[in-house]
Amino acid sequence: MACGLLGIILNALLFAGKLFAGMLSGSVAVTADAFNNLSDAGSSIVSMLGFKLAGQKADSYHPFGHGRMEYVAGLIVAMLIVLMGAELAQSGLEKIAEPQQVTFTALTAVILSASIAVKLFMFAYNRVIGSRIGSVSMLAASTDSISDTAATAVVLISAVVSHFTGIQIDGWCGTAVGLFIIYAGCRAAYDTVSPLLGQRPSGEFVENVKKTVLAHREIEGVHDIVVHNYGPECVMVTLHAEVPAEGDILALHDAVDAAERDLEETLGCIATIHMDPVVNDADTRRLREETAEAVKRIDQRITIHDFRAADCSGGKRLSFDALVPFGMEKSDEELTAMIRDSAAAETGCEIDVKVEKGYV
Ligand SMILES: [Zn+2]
Ligand SMILES: [Zn+2]
Repeated sequence: MACGLLGIILNALLFAGKLFAGMLSGSVAVTADAFNNLSDAGSSIVSMLGFKLAGQKADSYHPFGHGRMEYVAGLIVAMLIVLMGAELAQSGLEKIAEPQQVTFTALTAVILSASIAVKLFMFAYNRVIGSRIGSVSMLAASTDSISDTAATAVVLISAVVSHFTGIQIDGWCGTAVGLFIIYAGCRAAYDTVSPLLGQRPSGEFVENVKKTVLAHREIEGVHDIVVHNYGPECVMVTLHAEVPAEGDILALHDAVDAAERDLEETLGCIATIHMDPVVNDADTRRLREETAEAVKRIDQRITIHDFRAADCSGGKRLSFDALVPFGMEKSDEELTAMIRDSAAAETGCEIDVKVEKGYV
C-alpha cells in the first residue's frame, strides 16, 4: 500500500510539472506526456480502490467473495486510458495540420530531465522490491516506468531537435505519445479481461495439485483437473482421482477426503475429488497399454483415461476418454473416428471413445 502511495504522489507531481511546462512552451507532446503520468496516478488510485473492494468478505449474495472486483476496476481504468490517448493523439494530429511555434526553454528541459530521473528511480524501486516480495503489480509498474522513461526521452529529444534545427515535429511527437498511451491502455484491458474470461491455471499450480494428491499412496493417478479462480482468495479445484477398483471403498474415500483437506491447507483451494476405479488385472492392463499406443500413433500428445473393458457378445467392448490438445487440425468428430479405428485395429475390440479437451 505504502509503495502504491509513493507512486501516486510522484506521478501527480510529474503531471503537474509537465502540464506547466507544456502550457509554458505550447508543446502538445509535453502536455500529452503529462497526461500519461496522470493516467498512471489514476490507475494506481483505482487499483487501490479495487484492492479494497476486492478484499470485502464473502456474503450471501456473493459467496465466492469479491476478488474479481479488482479486474473490473482495472478494466474501467484501461478504457479511460484509451479514451485519453485518443484525445491526445487527436490534438497531436491537429498540430501537424496547423503547426504552431513551440517555445522551448531551459526550464522545460530541466522538468523533462527530472521526470526521466524520477521514472528511472521508480523503475529500479518497483523492480527490486517487486521481485523481493514477488508482487506482480509492482513488476508491472516497473515495466510501465521504463516505457514512460522512453516516451519522455523521445519528447525531450524532439524538443531539443526542434529548438536547434527549427524543424516542427511537436505534432508528430504528441501523436506518437497519444498512440503509445492507447497501446498501454489496450494492453492493460487485455490483462484484466483475460482473468474475467477464465484462464488456464499456471503449470506450477497444476503440478502442485498433482503432487499433493499423489502424496496419498492409495491414489494412483489424477485426470480431468479443473481450476476456477474467483481471485486469489477463492480458488476452486475439481479433479478425478484414480484408485484401485478392488480396494476398500471406505479406506479409499478416507484417502480422497484427506487429499481434499491437504489441498485446502497447502494451496488454499477448495477441492472436490471424484473417485474413478481403475481395474488392474493383466488383461485390462494389456488392453489399456495397446489402446494408449494406438492413440499415440495419431498424435503423441493424446492421452487416455477412465478406461473400462466390458464383456460383450463375442468379445470385449473398450470405453475410455481421450484427452486431445487445443489447436489440432482435425475436428473432434474426425479424431473420434480415427481413434476408434486405430484402437479397434490394434486390440480387435469394439471401441467407445469420448474425445475431450482439458482445462489445465
Ligand atoms: Zn468416475
Ligand atoms: Zn474420470
